[in-house]
Amino acid sequence: MKALADLQLSRGAVNFVEEERFQALLEMPAPDRGRVREIIAKSLAKQPLSVEETALLLAANDPETVEEIFETARQLKRNVYGNRIVLFAPLYIGNHCVNDCAYCAFRRSNPDAVRRTLSPEEIEAQVEALENRGHKRLILVFGEHPRYDADFIHDTVQQVYAIKVGHGSIRRVNINAAPLDVAGYRRVKEAGIGTYQVFQETYHEPTYHAVHPATTRKGDYLYRLDALSRAQEAGIDDVGIGVLFGLYDWRYEVLGLVAHALHLQERFGVGPHTISFPRLQPAAGVHLDEDYLVDDEDFKRLIAILRLAVPYTGLILTARERPELRREVMAFGVSQIDAGSRIELGGYTEVGDAQVQHLEREQFRLGDIRSLDEVMRELLVDGYIPSFCTACYRLGRTGEHFMEFAIPGFIKRLCTPNALTTLMEYLVDYASPETRAAGERLIAEELDKIDDAKLKAELVRRLERIRTTDARDLYF
Ligand code: SAM
Ligand code: SF4
Repeated sequence: MKALADLQLSRGAVNFVEEERFQALLEMPAPDRGRVREIIAKSLAKQPLSVEETALLLAANDPETVEEIFETARQLKRNVYGNRIVLFAPLYIGNHCVNDCAYCAFRRSNPDAVRRTLSPEEIEAQVEALENRGHKRLILVFGEHPRYDADFIHDTVQQVYAIKVGHGSIRRVNINAAPLDVAGYRRVKEAGIGTYQVFQETYHEPTYHAVHPATTRKGDYLYRLDALSRAQEAGIDDVGIGVLFGLYDWRYEVLGLVAHALHLQERFGVGPHTISFPRLQPAAGVHLDEDYLVDDEDFKRLIAILRLAVPYTGLILTARERPELRREVMAFGVSQIDAGSRIELGGYTEVGDAQVQHLEREQFRLGDIRSLDEVMRELLVDGYIPSFCTACYRLGRTGEHFMEFAIPGFIKRLCTPNALTTLMEYLVDYASPETRAAGERLIAEELDKIDDAKLKAELVRRLERIRTTDARDLYF
């Protein structure tokens, strides 16, 4: 078969990954403390770091400097980003796939994969189950297959938005699916999607080719590298980038992510909305080289360094990770997590709460299978405000991370009040008594911190309306 790269699908794509330069940057000696402090000061001033500055942070190896980087990430989280954590859930729509990614159980050469695409009735049942647990934001996940084309994604998104049970509704639908062409992205945008995510998996081209056969659609490295530029061209300005950590040297991948963020920022005036950093998990029939698996210590470092490098970008920590580790790294500036996740097709209704994981039906193994309510309670006890806010994108305030930090008072005036009203909705409609009590306590504490009397009075009024009436979705 002719390699897809030869068909020039990726004509016009820009390769912003400079392999030789990246390798040279990773060989730099550790910087002295003074230089690290200069870079830290730049981060604290909310300025994006260059690829070279990021490489210097990666080279810093002595325990005290590493601790200083962790502390800066915690400080940025506390002082700059606040204590909100946005919650979402993944919904797997179909796992037919024409690709053969070496790490994924959905790969076409896996004879044991149970293939399935949810029917409209099954989608309805899954979405109702998610709404009944309190979810407001979903990410729809698709294999790569002609049946999951732009029209199919568009129609699925529209269907999901239309499903309502009780006070439940899905207010933001994000997508993780194969790259599309510009016309395809335009079509998907018409359905009112939130973020479109495409993970590069690895920015190291030789590794990319080793795990993605050239005869498959995904084998075209440049077409994938250019995927989110095409999305931007089509007018989708919330895009999510990511790496599958464990395929190649994590330090190189961090440089790739930073280069990608800077590239989008330069070319379109808006950087990525989010960065995801999944770590490779065990999956059916997958036997990969273990040389590049990232241990917990390095995983913490990579999150902290990303936090410092890309101030205006949300960081997504997924349920692939174990609860204890999620709790710890949350403090490093993570802004979104999924909770109550099931990645088996139909998993929100069909496996009940038994939470048994069937590797032959899943893409990989999850590390955190606690319910949304349990995760909410832990967040509340730890002093975070779990938020289901979707106001910005619904009011056309896309690129909100940028505005949050660039517009004085934005977080205080809009983000925190919206987090609290959506939290109140959850407490009233879905929470267990323990979670409700923890939530009411946190809301009272947060109200005490608001010094704008007019705003506070309006917020108290809205919270009381939610508590005592059917009024919902009262965003600022
Ligand atoms: N099929 C589309 C694609 O490949 O871009 C989108 C969906 S794919 C199911 C979503 C992501 O799952 C992939 O981009 C990859 O990073 C991640 N993934 C695949 N296998 C994994 C594994 N064994 N462990 C952790 N994440 C994995
Ligand atoms: Fe298919 Fe995506 Fe899995 Fe690759 S990662 S085999 S493209 S579902």
